[in-house]
Amino acid sequence: MPSVVPPVPSAPPATSAHPATGPAADPATGPATTRHDGGPPSSVVVVGAGLAGAQALAALRRRGYTGRVTLLGAEGVPPYDRPPLSKELLSRPSPAWLADDLGVDVDALADDVRLADPAVRLERTGATDAPGWSVETRSGDRLVADAVVLAVGSVPVRPRGWEHARVLHTAADADALRAALRPGLRLVLVGAGWIGAELAGVAAGAGAHVTVVEAAGAPLHRQLGPEVGAHLAPWYAAAGAELVTGATVAEVRPDGVRLADGRELPADVVLAAVGARPATDWLDGVVPRDARGGVPVDADGAVPGLPGLWAVGDCANRDHPVLGPVPGGHWSAALHDPDATVAALLGDDGDRAAHAPYVFSQQLGHDLALFGVPAEGDEVVLRGDPAGGATGHEGWAAFYLAPAARSGPGAPAADPAARVTDVRAVLLVDSPRDVGPVRKAMNRTGRLRVDLDVALDPAGRLRDALA
Ligand SMILES: Cc1cc2nc3c(=O)[nH]c(=O)nc-3n(C[C@H](O)[C@H](O)[C@H](O)COP(=O)(O)OP(=O)(O)OC[C@H]3O[C@@H](n4cnc5c(N)ncnc54)[C@H](O)[C@@H]3O)c2cc1C
Repeated sequence: MPSVVPPVPSAPPATSAHPATGPAADPATGPATTRHDGGPPSSVVVVGAGLAGAQALAALRRRGYTGRVTLLGAEGVPPYDRPPLSKELLSRPSPAWLADDLGVDVDALADDVRLADPAVRLERTGATDAPGWSVETRSGDRLVADAVVLAVGSVPVRPRGWEHARVLHTAADADALRAALRPGLRLVLVGAGWIGAELAGVAAGAGAHVTVVEAAGAPLHRQLGPEVGAHLAPWYAAAGAELVTGATVAEVRPDGVRLADGRELPADVVLAAVGARPATDWLDGVVPRDARGGVPVDADGAVPGLPGLWAVGDCANRDHPVLGPVPGGHWSAALHDPDATVAALLGDDGDRAAHAPYVFSQQLGHDLALFGVPAEGDEVVLRGDPAGGATGHEGWAAFYLAPAARSGPGAPAADPAARVTDVRAVLLVDSPRDVGPVRKAMNRTGRLRVDLDVALDPAGRLRDALA
């Protein structure tokens, strides 16, 4: 049963109920309503015009939703894909628009698209057990909706005092960096994570003098662990970049950085690539968040205890049926998860696949695909030669096993079924033919089960080892 939204104390007048603009409710649709009957919402606000927001919008219409949809963005441009910003910084000078790459034309799909009017405040308007939300935008408008999908992504981490460091997160950042890159440029990249590594290769390839400063003992230490990270270190020199590990940046200046041990690294450009965190500060006090700022959601993307509120993509910490909570930061989650979330939001029954956490990267001349989430203390077993074999580019893989996942290396057993081991994560390096089978196997059951006796023989096919 629809009911009228109660006024929100001390907020600007509700300029928009179902209509997303203007000072009064739309005469065509009447006053703002909040559904209490569990049916599909009569209006949805999608906050965030990136991959997850665009996919949520597309899923709403694909699933036949005819209610009012508003899309709020912050960058002033239509949704585009971020991964090419680093990998194709120089070869793809304009953004990879999702309208072209995925066919998601947000203007055609939403009733109201505001690409430069970000949400600044969220409030409940419904009773405690009913959906009903008010979203205030930077321009001062207040949008009232039955359902809100948070798809606000993340913001790059920039430590205090690092004002002189650039970041690479948006198309505008990429434009500025592209304009600065030239042969001979002294570039200091802080952080040998995914983006630092990708940029190092691209910039060194363009003739820049690249130094990558990493606080940990190995690249991608946090994401892949010290042992696997160490196997990636030689890639830097081979690509013409210098890697300095175990070095902490004490100061970032316009002309370079000073390390904690006193070393000075002069630079024309310093770029911080030290991680990202969910763009959720504006939800403080309204929506529970984890230590990183991620919004914990169930396997459907619903925020527990807050009916009508959903979160997808980088800003969500989504419960996976096998892996448990998986923090955002995976492009594939932003691509796939919104459909399951929208299905739940609309009350559509059916199978909602839990997609495997999957990160891909092209860095320093190598292709990486990581499935699952490695954890500290995992045992790592390798398939193939991390030095790349005779050509330096032969594929290899690292399997991450929870401690005691198997009885001992090899653990040969007469019964092949008994040899199958639960694998927490697998990193595939320069192994494009294995990516599809691993993804399929993991998506099918939510877990990865591998016969390691077969998998660890690089002469065999990895697909034959997948249970
Ligand atoms: C340079 C780069 C390279 C990457 N490469 C890879 C890769 O190789 N593989 C991989 O798996 N992942 C990669 N990623 C990560 C991947 O791009 C993200 O996981 C993905 O973009 C997440 O999509 P999203 O829609 O959740 O967030 P975003 O893409 O961040 O989109 C969120 C949008 O919401 C907007 N927004 C924020 N706050 C508000 C607000 N209050 N109101 C309205 N709008 C708001 C933001 O401006 C942004 O446009 C890369 C990221 C970067 C930056």
